[in-house]
Amino acid sequence: MCNMDQLFQTLQGIFKGDILTHLEDRISHSRDASIYEVLPQAVLEPRDTEDIQNLVKFVQDNKAVHPTLSITPRSAGTCMSGAAIGSSLVVSMAKHFSHIHSLKRNILHTQPGVFVRDIDPLLTKHKLMLGSAPASRSLCTIGGMVGNNAGGEQSLRYGNTERSVRELTVVLADGNAYTVQPINKKELIQKMKQRTFEGRLYKRVYELIEAHYDLIKNARPHVNKNSMGYNLWSVWDRETGIFDMTRLISGSQGTLGIVTDLKIEAVPKAAHTGLLLAYVTSFKQLGDIIPLVMKHEPSTFEGFDDITFNLGIKYFSTFSQQLGVKEMLKQQAWLLQSVARFKSHLPNIILMIEFEGKTKKEVYTKIANMHDALKKYRIKMDIEGDEAASAPFWQIRRSSLSLLRNRVHDKYASPFIDDMTVQPKHLPKFLPQVRRIIRKHKLPATLSGHFGDGNFHIIPLMDIETKSAQKQLEPIMRELIPLVLKYGGTMAGEHNDGMVRGPWLPAVFGEEMYEIFKDAKEIFDPTYIFNPHKKTDASWEYSMDHIRTEHTDELIK
Ligand SMILES: Cc1cc2nc3c(=O)[nH]c(=O)nc-3n(C[C@H](O)[C@H](O)[C@H](O)COP(=O)(O)OP(=O)(O)OC[C@H]3O[C@@H](n4cnc5c(N)ncnc54)[C@H](O)[C@@H]3O)c2cc1C
Repeated sequence: MCNMDQLFQTLQGIFKGDILTHLEDRISHSRDASIYEVLPQAVLEPRDTEDIQNLVKFVQDNKAVHPTLSITPRSAGTCMSGAAIGSSLVVSMAKHFSHIHSLKRNILHTQPGVFVRDIDPLLTKHKLMLGSAPASRSLCTIGGMVGNNAGGEQSLRYGNTERSVRELTVVLADGNAYTVQPINKKELIQKMKQRTFEGRLYKRVYELIEAHYDLIKNARPHVNKNSMGYNLWSVWDRETGIFDMTRLISGSQGTLGIVTDLKIEAVPKAAHTGLLLAYVTSFKQLGDIIPLVMKHEPSTFEGFDDITFNLGIKYFSTFSQQLGVKEMLKQQAWLLQSVARFKSHLPNIILMIEFEGKTKKEVYTKIANMHDALKKYRIKMDIEGDEAASAPFWQIRRSSLSLLRNRVHDKYASPFIDDMTVQPKHLPKFLPQVRRIIRKHKLPATLSGHFGDGNFHIIPLMDIETKSAQKQLEPIMRELIPLVLKYGGTMAGEHNDGMVRGPWLPAVFGEEMYEIFKDAKEIFDPTYIFNPHKKTDASWEYSMDHIRTEHTDELIK
């Protein structure tokens, strides 16, 4: 019996959930929605928090003899930065951590493996919604949203997930489960006095932030949404005296501990919404139009390009599974009627400018004002005055990446420059320079995103398994990072670092701040048992060695 088999046999004695070691199970967990693949040694399905605690203790106990042993938490596996895959033990949370405990007022108490699509109906019933639900809301879980510090169309007002998290239960490196929530200075002092793992953790994080207070605060990118680095800048505020470790765990991609329970604040759902669709034919105009739209304070402001639009129109019937046949047909008919006016010539960019209000009339007035302000650009516009009329466009926008991944067969939609974010006021200068770089590298790329946040999903369509395509990644990153930094932005508004941006943390934040991030990681996880090769532990060489191959496609079939 090989070492690993013995190890799994011992684990079986203390672990109630399933331990899957068949190649098929390992392969099906070897990918997420990134450009990478890493084959795990086993997939574990913990039944409860105790299972996770026992697992963490087991890994700590065996780490010295088996140095490659580690734990990668995974929920729905839709991560685009390659953080939901790992070479050792992938811990699948979606199977058993799938219970919603309660909704009290606007606080949702839930296990992390619950799918957002199962939370949405409950919140809608109470005229609520998640303020940071991503476009992948039909595919992903709430725990994955916390793990990635996800953002979505409503983040324009409500920010990324970290802003809504109110309490987390986390299994930390000592194998115990802790409740983490905002505390005041007095409570912090009490915590720091404890001669325990938790006490030392609070003390060391507090001292780390205090020692570099200004550097850390200034390191925060000047944007509405960021998911790069560790959110140290949001943990301790000298002025309010609030110390909030939930901020640090949110967005840590399972590199600091495993979340087993959470409380998150839901936000009010508007009584009425409506869309102004603006069809932009020239990218040059986009830089001016976006800041103008922002002055009108839309509730959301999204967009996608003609490639996505075409795919959406062509494959709209495939949404029948999600929408039901009747609803799909209704939306399809509406969509076709709306696009008939373009005949075969679609505009380059479709802007979705949404307004909300207490009455339909209020919504319509806001849309009409926006319409008038945009007239000077001589662009075509359409008013979809209510939720029903807007629905097919939301369907395409939210499915934009899925459409690219599932419907473009000869190329792979390769996210690596997929999440650049700068303040909208910089867009007139920033966007043309990005376009120049992409054109220079002859990269066929699609565009969608949260335009109101200046958050762009540029997804190149590439033969990513070929060496020539892989060679393009580094030079493009090297050109885009300084450009994003020049405008005070971030390389990831919401998709986080993982394997793709982790290696670039020193380039983005500087060596000193990178070392501080690393200190934070090591305070939580001194033996590196949690999700290696991600964020501060990532290396470009490791990431490049794990780009997905066609070989695995064959195995999966
Ligand atoms: C089509 C498509 C569209 C997308 N659109 C958006 C978007 O609009 N905005 C956005 O932010 N993202 C988007 N994403 C990326 C991704 O869907 C989201 O970030 C999502 O929230 C991840 O959830 P998940 O359940 O799939 O998590 P996973 O991919 O399984 O995990 C994400 C990260 O969280 C960690 N994690 C998971 N569970 C736990 C846990 N219990 N404890 C600790 N760590 C944990 C994982 O280790 C990993 O690092 C999109 C992806 C796709 C495929």
